[in-house]
Amino acid sequence: MRIYADNAATTKMSRNAIDAMIPYMEEIYGNPSSLYEIGQKAKEALEDARARAAKVLNCEAREIYFTSGGSEADNQAIISAARIGEKKGKKHIISTAFEHHAVLHTLKKLEKEGFEIELLDVHSNGLVTAEQVAAAIREDTALVTIMYANNEIGTVQPIKEIGAVCREKKVLFHTDAVQAIGHVSVDAARDNIDMLSLSAHKFHGPKGVGILYAKKGIMLSNIIEGGAQERGKRAGTENLPGIAGMVKALEDATSDLDGYTARLTPLRDRLIAGLDEISYSELNGDREHRLPGTVNFCFEGIEGESLLLLLDDKGISASSGSACTSGSLDPSHVLLAIGRPHEVAHGSLRLSLSEDISEEEIDYLIKSVKEVVEYLRNMSPFWRDLVNGKRPHVFAE
Ligand SMILES: *Cc1c(COP(=O)(O)O)cnc(C)c1O
Repeated sequence: MRIYADNAATTKMSRNAIDAMIPYMEEIYGNPSSLYEIGQKAKEALEDARARAAKVLNCEAREIYFTSGGSEADNQAIISAARIGEKKGKKHIISTAFEHHAVLHTLKKLEKEGFEIELLDVHSNGLVTAEQVAAAIREDTALVTIMYANNEIGTVQPIKEIGAVCREKKVLFHTDAVQAIGHVSVDAARDNIDMLSLSAHKFHGPKGVGILYAKKGIMLSNIIEGGAQERGKRAGTENLPGIAGMVKALEDATSDLDGYTARLTPLRDRLIAGLDEISYSELNGDREHRLPGTVNFCFEGIEGESLLLLLDDKGISASSGSACTSGSLDPSHVLLAIGRPHEVAHGSLRLSLSEDISEEEIDYLIKSVKEVVEYLRNMSPFWRDLVNGKRPHVFAE
């Protein structure tokens, strides 16, 4: 059996998304800036895609900017807000310690420029509250940036409430919604969002393309200089095949969220219940406020890397912490942010499901993880110390 359980890292492209791309490679391959017919047809397709994306996000077409992905959208949103803020003498930015590195590293850069970055504490259940945000906002706050759903543990933040606080206090609000879209309902207007980032390859679209939504009136700063594409805010010939594939995938991923949630949630909960049976283990993040397909556990006495290799031998593709940091020995900044000690943060496993997973496959995942955890613990001197009482356990049995 082969099970791909790493959909938070990237997804398989849907047939619909692939089919939607092909005409823009084979037939309508013109440059949307060209005046002859296949250029103009490309331009029409581009604007049609923009209007359809706007419909999904409940915003205006002119508020949609196509980017090279989630990272670029995060960079541009945050840098833009910083430039707007500093003109008014506002150099305080609020975020959280468990954001994606596309956000955290951009904030680090701004910190070196003299911005004050305040990272809110994430509660041990993987959530921040609107009250925390309200308490942190100051006269000189330029931006609040908080992710919609966390990519490692899958917790979903109270974005609508956080957005309402920011609106009331007239502070710009950006959310990295890369992990949320297609899994929970995202609505720019309802959720009081000023700027939002999306990435196509996280919802069965192509890699290398994404969206930055920016509410009209927000003056974006260019990250990429050059031609006047994207209302002069993002230079470079538009990736029309990618954009066409992305928007098709976006429509498909958001068309039946209720059905998706109803189908996947019981399977996710079956997986959680099965892994809960493993002694000295714990689910990371709130049980309720989580994505329908993302499960993350810590196991005592285990190295995440060896767990992944042995699961791979059993045909299972999974992840330990974020894709960007796996391969390094640093424990996940997300698990540290929710208060997991280093020794258990190292022993983490993320399984992120797609809708086509079966109950039989869920049971195979549970059985395989149980076997591998037991095997690794039997070999681990660290585990022996725990069993002998030479070290204290972190979790209850
Ligand atoms: C994957 C991801 C990104 C980066 O998106 P890319 O399109 O790969 O650049 C940003 N934020 C979150 C939460 C992600 O999961």
